[in-house]
Amino acid sequence: LPCTPAEIVVSAIEAWHEGASIAHCHTRGANGERIYDKTMFTEIKAGIESQTDLIVNLTTSYYPPMTQDQRFEVLELQPEMASFNSGSLNFGDLGIYENSPAFMKKMAEQMLEYNVRPEFEIFDVGQIGNITRLIEQGLFKPPYLFQFVMGPKGAMPADAELLSLAVRMLPPQSQWLAIGVGRKQLEMNALSILWGGHPRTGFEDNVFYQKGEIATSNAQLVARVKRLALELGRPVATPTQARAMLGLTTQKTA
Ligand code: MG
Repeated sequence: LPCTPAEIVVSAIEAWHEGASIAHCHTRGANGERIYDKTMFTEIKAGIESQTDLIVNLTTSYYPPMTQDQRFEVLELQPEMASFNSGSLNFGDLGIYENSPAFMKKMAEQMLEYNVRPEFEIFDVGQIGNITRLIEQGLFKPPYLFQFVMGPKGAMPADAELLSLAVRMLPPQSQWLAIGVGRKQLEMNALSILWGGHPRTGFEDNVFYQKGEIATSNAQLVARVKRLALELGRPVATPTQARAMLGLTTQKTA
């Protein structure tokens, strides 16, 4: 796994060369464990933005021992995009992943203030309603980007019929992606391409290229998804085209 900021930047550049338009980033400790480190986020964002025109998408996920308030700090870096967790759930045996109504409202307000586009992480179909209620309160601007997080323990399973239902429940002016954590990632990539969504791939979700074979890089996974999209008649957007589709106002050139 790319763990240091320098390794993560190199991995993003490689994925960009293979057709990625958005780089979703977390920070990791020396042993690959997930940690929160604002300085590392700063280095990752600067490194990617200085060498590519990728849209940088930073996580607002919670990793102990950070506080809930520290989850707002990455917004101060003003990434073009950040993940927005759309409700609470039991994350396997790890405990309650808390995203209370008050927390979500504050996150929405802060994203508006810092001009950060939310990517709504939907762990279960009922959470779509949590977002539409905030849309009704004027806290989000269209177009909306939803990400169906399917497969983690405690989240909805990576299942085609469930994905079909979730897509039908989206509000107007929505774009969507689907994650199949683990062995369903490729299946969810293919369904996203076929059904008008956008594929997401990479080591956060799955480290295997195929059964029994570890992927060599994020770029290897991205290259396969690009081939799939082209074979299925879905052209791959450049970062500039992706910005237009997502209503992002930033102008960037590589
Ligand atoms: Mg993430």
